Amino acid sequence: MLNEGNNGSHSAPQHTSPKKSHTVTKTLLVLAFGLFAGAAAIAVVEPTSEPTVYQAIEALELPAGVTPLGLANTQPYIQETRIRRGDTLAALLQRLQVSSPGLQAFLTHDENARSIYKLYPGRSIQAALSDDNDLLWLRYYHTPSDTEQGQSVSKWLEVRPDGQDNYVATEQADITSTHIQMAEGIINSSLFGATDAANIPDTVAMQIPEILGSKMDFLKDIRKGDRFRVIYETHSHNGQRVGAGKILALEFESQDKVHAALWFSPDGQSGSYYDFEGQSSQGAFLRSPLKFTRISSTFGGRRHPIHGNWRAHNGVDYAAPTGTPIHATADGVVKSVGNQGGYGKTIVLEHHSGYSTLYAHQSKFAAGLKKGDTVNQGQLIGYVGSTGWSTGPHLHYEFRINNKPVDPLAIELPVARSLDDKQKAAFQTAASQYRLQLAVLKGLDQPAVAALDH
Ligand SMILES: [Zn+2]
Repeated sequence: MLNEGNNGSHSAPQHTSPKKSHTVTKTLLVLAFGLFAGAAAIAVVEPTSEPTVYQAIEALELPAGVTPLGLANTQPYIQETRIRRGDTLAALLQRLQVSSPGLQAFLTHDENARSIYKLYPGRSIQAALSDDNDLLWLRYYHTPSDTEQGQSVSKWLEVRPDGQDNYVATEQADITSTHIQMAEGIINSSLFGATDAANIPDTVAMQIPEILGSKMDFLKDIRKGDRFRVIYETHSHNGQRVGAGKILALEFESQDKVHAALWFSPDGQSGSYYDFEGQSSQGAFLRSPLKFTRISSTFGGRRHPIHGNWRAHNGVDYAAPTGTPIHATADGVVKSVGNQGGYGKTIVLEHHSGYSTLYAHQSKFAAGLKKGDTVNQGQLIGYVGSTGWSTGPHLHYEFRINNKPVDPLAIELPVARSLDDKQKAAFQTAASQYRLQLAVLKGLDQPAVAALDH
């Protein structure tokens, strides 16, 4: 077997999570407004601080037709607490000031309440108490944000008294509402220091290097003073934020360069990221490294053509005449170029987000190509051959995620695609709205028409 050795060193930026106010000189506005609502609808919201342990978070609506007078004492008192590392059920109930007899025993033993056996740090538990301190309900938001059939849902365990001195536990789910949030950050020490300071959720922050990772190196290329603006989804349930979704638009000013991406889904297709010119950007891979080809051997087990024994085939073979140009399937960096035993003349490219590709059995490499070179998607890197353990001219192409070979034909790769005219029109509409929003975020001084001159 040919093994390149374990160098899973593709490094995602470390989440340093420094203390907020210490590392970032300027906390930026978080603007919240409806998607495409335009500048007039913008409301400036102070960044929210960390939730305190005891916090009444929900104002229940009064029942219709009931006069509010004198009702204050019938409204439930809602307590919320967040689970901390090492928390126990007993500690949580104590913090919630719930002292209902038998509740803890019920939660510990009831089959239907078993989701509470796993207490995830950071998730929240709420308890609604009557004025007499009786439990009305207890909710454990164990899965605040999930996706089911393309919809964002929130799931929780709900426990109520059954009226007979016991309780009943049910799993509940509801569709969350999606909101659009915007934020700007300035790099002081690290990307994650800046996202923390701007109150950008970690799940959103993590997407930034994934989306722009093919354009810039978030370990080496960022500098103090770099700015970024991000528009992203948040999900809420019952007026409470339960999680964040995907980034919709992103702009990163790194020294003299501006990298941008926006999310766009052409009709009937899954969405992906594009730059503002409509070029598919993030994570886009060409389907094949050869322009005209046929697949001669697929991924999986097969009898080795030379050795005769069964072994894993960790790639896809493309039959093609010697000398057929081989193209990089995505932007990347040459990790190795040279002879690799049975692979023959081989190039390995490293891409963003832990992706890498391997091109084996080449007859020769593109002139001057060397380790460390940056290559663009579609760039010629070499020519088909039959070097190494090969029975005839073909390209053996491997696709790896974190150094683990996967079948490039089976997994859903982020595929580069071009937009047709109708899709381009829809794209331009979306892009100009995002540009406008990003310009607003940048300081309201950029003429909006400049964004529309396409
Ligand atoms: Zn092969």
